[in-house]
Amino acid sequence: MPADYHTHTPLCRHAEGEPEAFVDAALAAGVTEYGISDHAPVLPEPFDDWRMDDAEFPDYLAWIERARRHAGDRLPIRTGLECDWLPGCEGWIEALAARSDWDYLIGSVHYLGDWDFDNPKWLGRWQHEDLDTLWGRYWKTYAEMAESGLFDILGHPDLIKKFAHRPDGDLDRFYEPAIERIAASGCAIELNTAGRHKPCAEAYPAPRFLELARQAGIPLVISSDAHAPAEVARDFPEAIGIAKAAGYTETLLFEKRLRTTEAL
Ligand code: ZN
Ligand code: FE
Ligand code: FE
Ligand code: ZN
Repeated sequence: MPADYHTHTPLCRHAEGEPEAFVDAALAAGVTEYGISDHAPVLPEPFDDWRMDDAEFPDYLAWIERARRHAGDRLPIRTGLECDWLPGCEGWIEALAARSDWDYLIGSVHYLGDWDFDNPKWLGRWQHEDLDTLWGRYWKTYAEMAESGLFDILGHPDLIKKFAHRPDGDLDRFYEPAIERIAASGCAIELNTAGRHKPCAEAYPAPRFLELARQAGIPLVISSDAHAPAEVARDFPEAIGIAKAAGYTETLLFEKRLRTTEAL
């Protein structure tokens, strides 16, 4: 089973479970490595209510150490962080990158302007949005995140579909320009199985995006985005099938921001 690198901790205020329980779930699932990548702090605070405070950052590293101690030599535990790509955030991401000996950093687009569009709190806002314009803006932002060179893995590529709002027609018009820029950046993307359990009822990204990404040579990881132990490596057998159908034969492993490959 591939590594699961995108997982959370209760410090983000919308996940639950002790480090030992997450590690036990990872062991039971048989993943090759387990990585923790909670939502990074953003300044000035309070930025929103779904991430750790900056003051809690040492607690985050301690949480990961607890997981590592519990795993012992049974399972490699990797140290990661899910960072928000926000206008002008580059200096902050660089500061976060220098704070620890990270195995990888995940970059995610959860915000367009001041709107965290994947937050169910703001569902009413969708009816005022033009989907073509919004999707165009999302993918442009996503490609800029890739080109920043600050991240090893790009999170949940088509998160903008979360609530099943998709523009009409062939979506390749959004995918193709983004994929070209992601491929040139050298970043990996993730196949994130959490989408399967959201209104979009499909992993992020869509199979067609994955097929184009594979053709463009973009490397892949598979992740669960677990916010509870029961979600660790959720749907991984199905995800392996989706990745293989797109033409992938391997996924990446990360250690100290260096990558190796593992056969699917
Ligand atoms: Zn989360
Ligand atoms: Fe996310
Ligand atoms: Fe996440
Ligand atoms: Zn996430």
